[in-house]
Amino acid sequence: MFREQRPGKITPAPAPHVPTVVELPHGKLNAYENAKKQVSKIAGILKLTENETKLLVTPRRIITINFPVKLDSGRIKLFQGYRVQHNDSRGPFKGGIRFHPQVDLDEVKALAFWMSMKCAVAGIPYGGGKGGVIVDPKQLSKDELEALSRGYIREIAPFIGPDKDVPAPDVYTDSQIMSWMLDEYETIVNHHAPGVITGKPLDLGGSKVRDYATAMGGAICLRELMKALKLKPGKVAIQGFGNAGSFMAKILHSWKHKIVAVSDSKGGIVNERGLDPAEVLQHKERTGSVVGFRGARKVSNEDVLALPVDVLVPAALENQITHTVAHTVNAKIVVELANGPTTPDADEILRRRGIHLIPDILANSGGVSTSYFEWAQNLQGYYWTEADVLGKLDPLMVSAFNDVFNASKQHRVDMRTGAFVVAAQKILKAERLRGRLKQ
Ligand code: NAD
Repeated sequence: MFREQRPGKITPAPAPHVPTVVELPHGKLNAYENAKKQVSKIAGILKLTENETKLLVTPRRIITINFPVKLDSGRIKLFQGYRVQHNDSRGPFKGGIRFHPQVDLDEVKALAFWMSMKCAVAGIPYGGGKGGVIVDPKQLSKDELEALSRGYIREIAPFIGPDKDVPAPDVYTDSQIMSWMLDEYETIVNHHAPGVITGKPLDLGGSKVRDYATAMGGAICLRELMKALKLKPGKVAIQGFGNAGSFMAKILHSWKHKIVAVSDSKGGIVNERGLDPAEVLQHKERTGSVVGFRGARKVSNEDVLALPVDVLVPAALENQITHTVAHTVNAKIVVELANGPTTPDADEILRRRGIHLIPDILANSGGVSTSYFEWAQNLQGYYWTEADVLGKLDPLMVSAFNDVFNASKQHRVDMRTGAFVVAAQKILKAERLRGRLKQ
């Protein structure tokens, strides 16, 4: 659960992420097709060759596994899983493992591609990867979940390692699952190797700040954009009051913004005079929802996205700002803490309406950047204080923000395209230096 450590400092709550499949008005677009479209846009801007374009979008290695898990009944069931290793030109592959009934290979390929892009934008020495198992974890007992986690790691153990590929939590996987996976890997290699996986509990080599790092990274990007646009802290609406959204509310509140609306899956609440996020969180912990918080009026989730505010923060699910919603957004800035909250056509509408958007691969990259800090601490065997981590996260995010902001100015494109341009340039440079592409 969330709790304050001291004013403005906040603690743990590993949370499941949500799948990233983009829907277009003419139907469901396969996530990997969407990734390919993003690459072809960049290819046009940077005048990339066919080889460069292909290299950016094609995974280096795809591992498909089918592995047995003994259920509590004694029956043995075969599960299918994947690990997609997209690009490792800048460092080991990096990306989460999701347990979800709808995991499919194209989605894992797209997510692995986006991880390569995100790590390059953040400027951390990682490539991108992603893993998944087709399973409904809610149907498994704790023992079965442990057996599944260990079974998955046994199959991919030859392909992962602190210098090869570093998994992490994602949808329906958490720090307990990372602990079992770490233990299985260390049993196989017969030595300690905490850097093989991130998102671990603090007691097994996790990092301070990781729990609120995603929100902190987004808040730092917002601070920098407001500085560039000469805007002062203003009114904020946040969709989603889970890990990312609630920490974002606390951080921005402590930075003198006025949080006028928040929402969760049960609906939204508004108070134009401002909400105290810590009190809203207490209410949510007591009642299961932000709805019903005293002094605030209830609104629908769509209403929250259309409120007249300075900053809108989607921090819930993918595909929330659709073509229709984009016309109603009444904010100066959108900060995408969620993965893929804006559909590609909505993106274009926001751009035409002059709304500034800090894209997910930049806005939520504070999370993977702090995973990088966790890995760096594991490799050194020396652990940092909360102030140490924050002191490194802030300049890292500022530098990533500046790279993206400057690229979007230079190429006269929106910040999402600017972010992909930055990432593609860094990855292609590393590929050229390695001799995998012509200089
Ligand atoms: P979470 O499960 O902790 O929180 C999700 C919140 O969204 C919950 O409050 C839920 O009630 C709410 N929600 C669900 N449907 C909603 C709806 N229709 N309208 C409004 N609210 C709704 O998840 P999280 O970890 O906070 O992740 C949120 C998003 O941020 C995801 O897209 C995730 O991929 C992304 N993200 C999170 C991290 C991280 O470190 N937590 C890192 C990178 C990206």
